[in-house]
Amino acid sequence: APLLEVRDLVTQYPVKTAGFKRAKTHFRAVDGVSLDIHPGEILAIVGESGSGKSTLGKSILRLVEPASGEIRLAGTDILGLKRPDLRRLRRHMQMVFQDPFGSLNPRRTAFSQIAEPLVIHGIAKGADLANRVEGLAKRVGIPSDMLSRYPHAFSGGQRQRLCIARALALSPKLIVADEAVSALDASIRAQVLELMLELQREMGLTYLFISHDIGVVRQISDRIGVMYRGKLVELGETEAVCSAP
Ligand code: ADP
Ligand code: ADP
Repeated sequence: APLLEVRDLVTQYPVKTAGFKRAKTHFRAVDGVSLDIHPGEILAIVGESGSGKSTLGKSILRLVEPASGEIRLAGTDILGLKRPDLRRLRRHMQMVFQDPFGSLNPRRTAFSQIAEPLVIHGIAKGADLANRVEGLAKRVGIPSDMLSRYPHAFSGGQRQRLCIARALALSPKLIVADEAVSALDASIRAQVLELMLELQREMGLTYLFISHDIGVVRQISDRIGVMYRGKLVELGETEAVCSAP
């Protein structure tokens, strides 16, 4: 059975219209997308800037509210969940973004950023929390003496590792990676990608991997979906999609 099932998903944003009528119109950033992701699979979503990739990723976690359609994670109807249940479900799905400064708090230490989800969900405290945070940092290659430092002291690659450690803290099943390695230099990007692949093998992670970089996607994905103006216009095995005319 698929880990994630998306059916006829529509997510729209309001459009501000000029003039006195103020008609309320919407524009569909995601316009009827259906796809499945199987456990352990890496499904890449590619497409030009503005095609709706990010909105699709955020919709799956309900970081933006879809207008219609269905999303199921391991059979659970995500769009039907009330807030408290949605919060619980977030343990199973995490998003890693492109700009680590955008999602890291500049005023909190690396330790506290990794610890945050564990604290919020009441999973660990005290010595247990410290052990878990150190274990996660070690796993993603952040030296433990850097845990007391603030994000500005980290390089781009280290910040991305920090984001990954935080995303892994709750042992999620699905990671939605939105341009997660796009801002990194080629050699650092290769290292972070390698880390993500190792984690996939070790922890049985499943990825929805959003990227505009077909080179990266070709290297790591099992299947590729192509978005164009909010629609999924192609979906298939990586080699088939890459070799299509
Ligand atoms: P991407 O790299 O995915 O193209 P963008 O630069 O389009 O990212 O968007 C960056 C952030 O700004 C996102 O969180 C997105 O939701 C938001 N955003 C993008 N376009 C608009 C818009 N027209 N109005 C308001 N927010 C937007
Ligand atoms: P991509 O990730 O493929 O670059 P996005 O999902 O970021 O695409 O954006 C799809 C479209 O929706 C773009 O036209 C973008 O400007 C618009 N958009 C994104 N976020 C918002 C937002 N918060 N408010 C209004 N429009 C948005």
